[in-house]
Amino acid sequence: MRQAWLSELLLLVGLVIAALLLAALFGYFGWFMFAALLGFTFRHLYQLYRLERWLRVGRIRNPPESWGIWGDVFEHYYRLQRRYYKRKKRLTRVIREFRESTAAMPDGTLVLNNEFRIVWFNDAARDTLRLSTSRDLGQPIANLLRSPRFKTYLDAREFDHPVNVPSPIDDSRILAARLIPYGAEQYLLLVRDVTRIQRLQTMRRDFVANASHELRSPLTVLSGYLEALAEEPAMDGQWREPLQDMQAQCERMNTLVNDLLELSRLETEEGDASLEHEVDVVALLERIVRNVRIEDGARHDIGLEILSGAGLRGTDSELHSAFSNLVINAIRYTAADGKIRVRWYARPGGELAFEVSDTGIGIEEKHIPFITQRFYRINGSHSRSKGGTGLGLAIVKHVLQRHNGRLEVESIPGEGSIFRCVFPQQRAVYNASLASDGSILAP
Ligand code: ADP
Repeated sequence: MRQAWLSELLLLVGLVIAALLLAALFGYFGWFMFAALLGFTFRHLYQLYRLERWLRVGRIRNPPESWGIWGDVFEHYYRLQRRYYKRKKRLTRVIREFRESTAAMPDGTLVLNNEFRIVWFNDAARDTLRLSTSRDLGQPIANLLRSPRFKTYLDAREFDHPVNVPSPIDDSRILAARLIPYGAEQYLLLVRDVTRIQRLQTMRRDFVANASHELRSPLTVLSGYLEALAEEPAMDGQWREPLQDMQAQCERMNTLVNDLLELSRLETEEGDASLEHEVDVVALLERIVRNVRIEDGARHDIGLEILSGAGLRGTDSELHSAFSNLVINAIRYTAADGKIRVRWYARPGGELAFEVSDTGIGIEEKHIPFITQRFYRINGSHSRSKGGTGLGLAIVKHVLQRHNGRLEVESIPGEGSIFRCVFPQQRAVYNASLASDGSILAP
């Protein structure tokens, strides 16, 4: 038994024995016993009174002095109280530090509640969005950032990427806004002025597009002359080879310029590819495969497997460019007699997939994350010798982004690769004559 309870019990026993002794000496057993129990009860009432008075004050104070079970009660409560205050102090400090650090952040930072209303903002947000504490706290953020793009961003609730919106105080400035969910439906909104970066990007894009465009005419003239020279019967035999070389280089520059133009056009297009236009993927793939077979001249075994008759909502020319780039790559990086399969099928979840598999040189895993970067080549001279520009997969990536798709790459060096473009169900178009999952078998 604990010490405190023991002393409490001893007190009661002591009082009862004292009452018994006094009753033995003087009689009045009932009165002495009553007095003993009254004393005992009074002690407890008095200690309760002290406890209540101590608690009533509310703030942390030394506990009343006491012994026995009441001493323990005071001590326990005092310890709990101190622990609670310590934790409260620590939390207050953390919150203060968090607020100080976010306040010092150069980017505008706002805390929003589950209804996207402003709960708090830092100085940078005040300056960037010209906010006022009295007017804007509690306001829905969509009232301040009124761009339809931002509304769509909020409604979609997909906050993996920032969204660019015009500044509410100056139309010529662009802000990148990014929501970061945290806690129980709270959001941190980061707002950054990206006008300068956007201008630089536009300048770079325009420069590449203009330079490529300007290079086109001289290249056409050069190719024309080279072709005429190559066909000239009076041409000295020793010039044949250098001329062929020059023609091949001209051809390469032409492809490069075309790819650069295609890429900058894709980068300039705002938003996603249209959902209104329907592309007949089956016909598109048949056309692509027919053309590459002609160009390949039966050096590879190129097969087409159409396992779905579904079409896609999007842009015909872009999809043509992406799909043919992947098929051409498969040919480029597969030795003669290798097997190339082009497939179009619906996945169980409703997604559609375009897949090119080859039995070519394959790609080491460490390169896979980088191959969609511009001019990233694993073996530059091999790519160049096969007419590669280093831009093909960058084009594929952009086209897929514009069609809400993704690229999956599986590869085993020395055995072959699979490049798969996966499109979401909302991009699928099914003909009435097809099964609801769009699956028909028409290889
Ligand atoms: P390139 O014009 O050089 O082919 P891409 O952007 O199309 O440029 O591809 C980038 C790099 O990825 C290529 O240089 C090559 O190393 C690798 N690659 C692409 N497709 C394949 C493939 N099917 N098999 C093996 N390697 C590939």
